[in-house]
Amino acid sequence: MQTGPTVALIVAAGQGSRSGSSTPKQYSAIGGRAMIAHAHAALAAHPAIDEVVVVIGEGQQAMLAAVIGEVRHVIGGATRRESVAAGLAAIGDAARVLVHDAARPFVPGAVIDRLLAALDHLPGAIPVLPVADTLAQAGEVLGDVVPRAGLVRVQTPQAFDVAALRDAHAAWDAGVEATDDAQMLRAIGLDVATVEGDIMLDKITYPADFAAAEARIAPTLVSRSATGYDVHRLEAGEELWLGGVLIPHDRGLSGHSDADVALHAITDALLGTIGAGDIGTHFPPSDARWRGAASDQFLAHAASLVRAEGGVLDFVDLTLICEAPKIGPHRAAMRARIAAILGLTEKQVSIKATTSERLGFTGRKEGIAAQAIATVRVPA
Ligand code: MG
Repeated sequence: MQTGPTVALIVAAGQGSRSGSSTPKQYSAIGGRAMIAHAHAALAAHPAIDEVVVVIGEGQQAMLAAVIGEVRHVIGGATRRESVAAGLAAIGDAARVLVHDAARPFVPGAVIDRLLAALDHLPGAIPVLPVADTLAQAGEVLGDVVPRAGLVRVQTPQAFDVAALRDAHAAWDAGVEATDDAQMLRAIGLDVATVEGDIMLDKITYPADFAAAEARIAPTLVSRSATGYDVHRLEAGEELWLGGVLIPHDRGLSGHSDADVALHAITDALLGTIGAGDIGTHFPPSDARWRGAASDQFLAHAASLVRAEGGVLDFVDLTLICEAPKIGPHRAAMRARIAAILGLTEKQVSIKATTSERLGFTGRKEGIAAQAIATVRVPA
C-alpha cells in the first residue's frame, strides 16, 4: 500500500523522572545498558525498519552520544505531541512510521511484524494487552469498580501511515494535550487496528519497575569469557606505556603503536568475547595511522564493539610478566585508567604481576608479556 521508507521515532525528550533518579530515566541503565540504547538497538535490528530517529530534549545530545554513540536525532518540544511532530517533520518521504516511547526498552520483533502487517489494511496500528487486575475509582475510600471487560492496556510502538499521522497532527487543537498518536488519528475519523502486545513492552516508570526489568532480561544474556596475550620488546630510547599509564623507566616498549602490551592483551580478550578477530584485524600494523598511536583507542573500540552487540562488560583481569619495572607502585593508576577507558568501575578491573624467575625473554628483560581475560554478557 505505502511506498517509501519505514522509520522508527523514539520519543525520549522527557527531562524529569518519577523513577527517583536525577538522570532522565531513558538514560538509566538496565542490564548495564541505557534504556534508550536497548530500544534503539531493537528497532534498528528489525529488517523492515530502514532508519531510527531519536527525539531528545534540548541539552541531551551529550547524554545520547554517551549511551549510543552518534545516531540520528532531532530536538523535541515541551510535550510528547510536539516531540512527535518534530520527528514527523524530520523524516522526509517516509511512508510508515513507528512512534515509540523510550521508557519501554524491550521491543520484541514479533510485535513490529504484527503492527506492520496491520498497517497494510488500516492507517494506524497499536499493540494492546487485556487488563488483568480489577479496576476501581480511586479515592480516600474505595470507589465503584470499573468493568474491565472490553478494556485494554495500550502500548507502543504505534505504527502509522505517515501522511495520515501528519494530517492528524495538523488538525489537532494545540490547546488540548493528546494522550497518544492513536487517539489523534481517531480524532480525524480514521480507524486504528489493535494487535497483540507483549509484557516485555511494559513501561518503566517507578523504581520497582527497574528491578523487574532487570529480572526480565537476565535470562536473555549469556556469559562469555575470552583471553588475550601480547608481547613487546624493551628498547632504549622508547617511552614505557603500560596499562595506559606512562611509567618512568630506562627503556620502553617498541612496536608500531605505543606498544602497550597490557592494553593490547585486554583488547584481544574483549574482541574474543564476540568472535571479532584480534587487534591486528581492526588496526593493521600496515596502516600508517596507527604508527605511535595511543592504545587506549584500540581498547575503547573493542569495548564499543561489544556494547554494539548488546553486550555488557562485567570484568577484566590482567597479568603482566616482567622482571622490571616493579608494577606494584603503578597498579592503582593503571587500574583507574583501564576502568576509565572501558567505562567500568575499578572493582571490575584486576591487575596482577609476576616475574618468570629470570627465565626466558622476560627473565632476561628483553621484553614484557601480558595476558588478560575478559568476561562479558551478550544476547543469547
Ligand atoms: Mg601488541
